[in-house]
Amino acid sequence: MPTIFWRFISKFIQNSVVPSLQLRLKTNSKMTQRTLMSYFSSKNSIENIKPVTNNKLVETSPEELEVSKSSPIKTYGKRKKNSHLFSDSSDEESNYNKKTCENNSPSKEKSPIKEQLYSTNKDNNKSTDKNKELDQSNINSKINETPEMKLLQNSTNNIVSDHSMSTEMYYDPTKKSYHPINDAFWSQNQETPYCALTKTLLCIEEVSARLKIIEILSNYFRSVIVLSPKDLLPSVYLCLNKVAPDYTGLELGIAETTLMKAIVQTTGRSMAQVKSDVNKTGDLGIVAEKSKSNQRTMFKPSRLTVKGVFEKLKEISEMTGHAVLAKKVDKIQSMFIACQDSEARFLMRSLAGKLRIGLAEQSVLQALALACTLTPPSLNYPPEIINISKEMNEEKFKKLYDEKSLILKTTYCESPNLDAIIPIILEKGVDALPENCKLTPGVPLKPMLAHPTKGVHEVLDRFDGLKFTCEWKYDGERAQIHLTEDGNTYIFSRNQENNTSKYPDILNRLNLVKGPNVQSFVMDSEAVAWDKEKKKIMPFQILSTRKRKNANEEDIKVQVCVFMFDLLYLNGEPLVKRPFWERRKLLKENFIEVEEQFLFATSLDTITMEEVQDFLEESIKGNCEGLMVKTLEEDATYEIAKRSRNWLKLKKDYLDGVGDTIDVVVLGGYLGRGKRTGTYGGFLLACYDPESEEYQSICKIGTGFTDEDLQNHTEFFKEHVIERPRSYYRYDQSHEPDHWFETIQVWEIKCADLSLSPVHRAALGIVDPEKGISLRFPRFLRIRDDKTIEQSTSAQQIAELYYSQVQIMNQGSTNTNKEDFY
Ligand code: AMP
Repeated sequence: MPTIFWRFISKFIQNSVVPSLQLRLKTNSKMTQRTLMSYFSSKNSIENIKPVTNNKLVETSPEELEVSKSSPIKTYGKRKKNSHLFSDSSDEESNYNKKTCENNSPSKEKSPIKEQLYSTNKDNNKSTDKNKELDQSNINSKINETPEMKLLQNSTNNIVSDHSMSTEMYYDPTKKSYHPINDAFWSQNQETPYCALTKTLLCIEEVSARLKIIEILSNYFRSVIVLSPKDLLPSVYLCLNKVAPDYTGLELGIAETTLMKAIVQTTGRSMAQVKSDVNKTGDLGIVAEKSKSNQRTMFKPSRLTVKGVFEKLKEISEMTGHAVLAKKVDKIQSMFIACQDSEARFLMRSLAGKLRIGLAEQSVLQALALACTLTPPSLNYPPEIINISKEMNEEKFKKLYDEKSLILKTTYCESPNLDAIIPIILEKGVDALPENCKLTPGVPLKPMLAHPTKGVHEVLDRFDGLKFTCEWKYDGERAQIHLTEDGNTYIFSRNQENNTSKYPDILNRLNLVKGPNVQSFVMDSEAVAWDKEKKKIMPFQILSTRKRKNANEEDIKVQVCVFMFDLLYLNGEPLVKRPFWERRKLLKENFIEVEEQFLFATSLDTITMEEVQDFLEESIKGNCEGLMVKTLEEDATYEIAKRSRNWLKLKKDYLDGVGDTIDVVVLGGYLGRGKRTGTYGGFLLACYDPESEEYQSICKIGTGFTDEDLQNHTEFFKEHVIERPRSYYRYDQSHEPDHWFETIQVWEIKCADLSLSPVHRAALGIVDPEKGISLRFPRFLRIRDDKTIEQSTSAQQIAELYYSQVQIMNQGSTNTNKEDFY
């Protein structure tokens, strides 16, 4: 901004405004200071002004400035491992990124004086809501009425027209006893400013403790619930980085080059500069924020709101047709221009499809549950209860919170549609969810998953004294088949993707399969490639050659057979609360097997080790992966919200190595030599740590590939080579590959065992403070197209596999796996 402008402001304070404001300061110091400082705090010309307890604006000496510069900045919890995204870059850049959430003022540079001001004000923040609104409007109108300010406003073309700035810079959702009204900086029925959300995300980025993350996010949600409830839905979607339920297929994930183009066109930076920054930092969000902060604008567009950003993101994801890219870039630019501070960072990350702050889906749901427990949504303003934890002891509160979060998570698993869930929460409360948001055909539910085991012994240990059944574990693709009351049919994948157009053959056979009394249903099954001549199951690899979308039944070459194993809904009634034995009975009573097309999963109800062992061998001979072992007890409901112990998986491979296979992410490739010249000869693999959002190297792999595999991998990864490793790749220099890749593909691999490693970084800090875990003798099995990168084996699971191996060696039996699925 031109120096002349700031000179004018300085003069303006000294000569005319200060006396009138000082008058006001006497009656209400807090808000006046805030308002004043928000107008003037961000520029050097007035940095030498600070408020003191006697409510006067005084000069700060250079010495005082020195002291405040060295005063420590408060941080929350330990810094995240991945928060030093500029680790490889210049000091200027790392300083920029080290800004903490307390310091996220509207100014571009960290100002010691503002830190000092902030702490003074923060401690005194006791104004009531009414007071606050009154103060703010009084002050704003008083200032605006002065001829000087009018002149100033006119002459600067709205540069200081945004009054909500007065408290925006102090927004602190990390506050211990956060008050959803007093600690928010927007008022009732005002649309939630986008920066309220991005400041919250910025705070979360600085924290690694999951509980603290949940608390911070819940504080923001509480304010939204009370002040601007209509923004709760877009807020939750933005935190989940979604624009609609998964099954709609609408998603963000704009290509990096398109986003870079938008940055270039908006900021006037060159593509080469932007590209080089992205390569250096590996984070387009930070590059966008930095590019924006270096840009000076005279005309400030109106501030972004949560609703506005969400709607635009949704529009972008819905755009199709002619010249769609240019239209998308236009929309992106229109938002990007209006971004201030951290808004640019999170906007770009949302567009790219990754928030990268370690905010997992279950943490967002947990935060929502906490918010609704602490400050139950109410149709009245102010709500009857602001903080329920003050009205009961800790134990009672915890019980209540646990109840609410289980209701919310179970509902979300059974009907993962926030468009239906959030309005019910706001109108009727969390307790009303089970009655109002039920499992419905047409909406895919999250699938129940099984717990891995290392052998028949472990199965019998876990299910000791319980009734159970063993089913063949088919190696195909999960198919959740739905028939709605009005006759529509759908097939959803394990990740709730809509696979309906992939399997017209399955849908066309449904009439033969369903019994005469079946009007609607949801069935759980596995679609497996079927060899018609040999009347045998074929390996998964064959199934994966089928067309993924819009398949024509006449053109289908790979036939499938569906193996039915569960029934989750029948004729208007959800069955998920019924025990498995009952669901299985209903399945068999209401569906008819059709040879080579629709069969019930082969099963055996037994309790003897020998029979389980024999059945396992048989399943392997039948081209299956092993067994699924399921309890038949009364409480064996379809548990989706937890990683259930009611289902165990027992794979054939446990015989020759680690019990379960491991799904890893490919980070880079080593150029092949000798016979493998011209292709990659080996690859660097990693596991994903959702806590820190890092990819941690786990092993180099060079076996298990056919020549054709290597050719295919080389072709594929050629398109995904990046110049440098991303800042969130963790690896040892000694294992640096010849080419780095984007994280784009998951591979299923097998290994002999897991060992502590001084060079690999998997699960570093979980099992050993200095050493990671590596896989010995890894062998490539297949590409896992059905798994996203985030669904690869997590660092925590690697640690658990390691522990269970050590236990088995030591013949110990302590259970280390405490992880809950949701
Ligand atoms: P995994 O992918 O190794 O975690 O194993 C779980 C998957 O096994 C499920 O998502 C199903 O797709 C598949 N599966 C195959 N047969 C069965 C079965 N009889 N019961 C349940 N799941 C099965």
